[in-house]
Amino acid sequence: MIETKPTNIHWHEGDLSRDERWKALGTRGATLWFTGLSASGKSTIASALEQTLVNKGINAYRLDGDNVRHGLNKNLGFSAEDRAENIRRIGEVAKLFADSGAIALTSFISPYRADRDLCRKLHDDAGLGFIEVFVDTPLEVCEQRDPKGLYKKARAGEIKGFTGIDDPYEAPEKAELTINTEGRSVDECVAECLKLLVDRRVLAKG
Ligand code: ADP
Repeated sequence: MIETKPTNIHWHEGDLSRDERWKALGTRGATLWFTGLSASGKSTIASALEQTLVNKGINAYRLDGDNVRHGLNKNLGFSAEDRAENIRRIGEVAKLFADSGAIALTSFISPYRADRDLCRKLHDDAGLGFIEVFVDTPLEVCEQRDPKGLYKKARAGEIKGFTGIDDPYEAPEKAELTINTEGRSVDECVAECLKLLVDRRVLAKG
């Protein structure tokens, strides 16, 4: 549970409504939340999707696990509490991006259902779209890919609490999209995401 420090702070409503902003910018914000095992393909798909969207003139911005841990979340480790706080902060930042009219693309293992559900609630409460994309690549395939050699280290006991090895991954129960990347091209996976964004009326067309 996150401690809320008691202070005299109040939400300041600006002069510009979200509708006005989105209409003026010709945009619709939302968060596309990629979750899945390490090496399942979250970053690869999110990055290719970001490029595709931006090349179409759509403001998409990727928040990526390792990158965020270099800055905003550099004081957090991998204990259950720190992982939860990591995800909560990302959820709050993604929500701000979505509110601004951008498509926030988050790629974090985010292994615990409760943490992801909290981020969904943050968006729901703010009337913003939260689209959960489960990158459902089997553990054996992820382990075979092992682009950063992390599974090898985890199997050797050099990394403790590694998701899928000695820490659980709680698969989403109601993801808006489930993608298995095994034997499929990145372009095919990106096309599925684009279709979803059109179906959810975030994009006018793919
Ligand atoms: P994650 O962000 O989930 O840890 P990465 O995107 O860093 O995963 O790594 C996924 C690896 O899988 C990359 O080496 C990528 O080239 C490979 N890969 C193979 N097929 C696909 C696919 N269809 N979609 C995404 N990644 C794929």
